[in-house]
Amino acid sequence: MHTERVIAVEHLTDSLFAFRTTRDSTFTFESGQFTMIGQTVGSKKVLRAYSMVSPTWADYLEFLSIKVPDGELTSRLQHIEPGDEIIVNKKSTGSLLLDNLVDGRNLYLFATGTGIAPFLSIVQDPEVYDRYDHVVLVHGVREARELAYRRFLEEHLPNHEHLGEYAREQLVYVPTVTREPFERTKRVTTMIYDGELAEATGLPTLDREQDRVMICGNPDMVHELRHHFLEQGWEMGTTHGKGQFVIENAFVEK
Ligand SMILES: Cc1cc2nc3c(=O)[nH]c(=O)nc-3n(C[C@H](O)[C@H](O)[C@H](O)COP(=O)(O)OP(=O)(O)OC[C@H]3O[C@@H](n4cnc5c(N)ncnc54)[C@H](O)[C@@H]3O)c2cc1C
Repeated sequence: MHTERVIAVEHLTDSLFAFRTTRDSTFTFESGQFTMIGQTVGSKKVLRAYSMVSPTWADYLEFLSIKVPDGELTSRLQHIEPGDEIIVNKKSTGSLLLDNLVDGRNLYLFATGTGIAPFLSIVQDPEVYDRYDHVVLVHGVREARELAYRRFLEEHLPNHEHLGEYAREQLVYVPTVTREPFERTKRVTTMIYDGELAEATGLPTLDREQDRVMICGNPDMVHELRHHFLEQGWEMGTTHGKGQFVIENAFVEK
């Protein structure tokens, strides 16, 4: 385990916060991966899976976190302040890897809630823009204020010194809010089924032969889309073999 220090904390809503920590120079990961992080409580280490939000090239680590009121880790973690210690496992893993997909035309990243976390790392990876014509990030939440990183995606990234041109020309961000009025209010799944996705992006309809998909969100959504894509004849990629889509649950229902 590495012991890192909290550098900054930002509370986004009553149930979401983001934080940055130092990064041990020996800690490596691939865009889209997760690791185990946590805190020492008494004599016990409380660790949970967290996707890295930060890009692989940054000298810090950033995470987006839920606040579960009675959650063993996050009931405490939500109170962290700069200077506090966070334990970070030395190894990272996960299936949301560019290398688990066969090459394609456009890459679709479908997220709900904190499931956007691994995709934030991916959209900051220059390699994704070399491999795909367009990268479409669809983020579904209940309330607009849960659209974590919206400003980052709409304002900061398109003006980024090195990634700005990629983001302006190849990244398509599609936020959707299901429980209050918003410019788009359909569930991510519905947008895929009824064609609104193509309308929203101006890109051709999803095509198994040409497009690639990554899915990360609540277990019901992941289960539903996994079933949908398999039924449509798409092959699922894993570390054992490349496919046309890959999935990861954003959390486990207990
Ligand atoms: C592969 C993987 C990657 C993950 N990445 C992240 C991440 O980047 N950010 C993050 O906040 N969490 C992530 N999680 C969930 C995380 O591991 C913990 O479950 C979460 O931090 C809550 O921990 P806890 O001990 O407070 O509560 P737990 O006892 O772990 O969870 C209690 C309950 O809270 C709910 N819950 C837990 N996590 C979430 C969530 N993210 N969104 C909505 N409901 C949730 C579930 O109903 C769960 O049963 C990930 C989980 C997995 C399996």
